[in-house]
Amino acid sequence: MATEPIEPADLCPACGYRDVTTADGWCVECSSERAIEAYGEKDRERAEARHSRWKGRTAAPSDQPLALVMRQRRHRLEVATRPKEFPGALSDPLELGVDALAHLRAVRNGLGSNSRARSHLAQAEELIKQLAHGPEE
Ligand SMILES: [Zn+2]
Repeated sequence: MATEPIEPADLCPACGYRDVTTADGWCVECSSERAIEAYGEKDRERAEARHSRWKGRTAAPSDQPLALVMRQRRHRLEVATRPKEFPGALSDPLELGVDALAHLRAVRNGLGSNSRARSHLAQAEELIKQLAHGPEE
């Protein structure tokens, strides 16, 4: 009794039932899923790298001499910058930065020709950009 030989090379190795139709060897659906996953993974890696660069800069001081002064200073900084609401674990500093800049654009529109206020606004915009990106790689 002859059966049709199975040709696995023609079936997508990811889903196992659709035909391979892309150059990378997957079906269209699995290929685009993989591309999205890969992009998400890259994004996550970038976010983690950014986070660890910040962490290196803001590491809690140990019990070295001057540690008390540094701890007090750090505490003041933390209190001064503590948000009403902490962002979610998956939030993206770049997206938060874009939102903040949009709010500042609205403020700019209300400032008229107050050049001193505009100068402060420009500095705030720059600092938000720095916060969003963190230290340079
Ligand atoms: Zn597939």
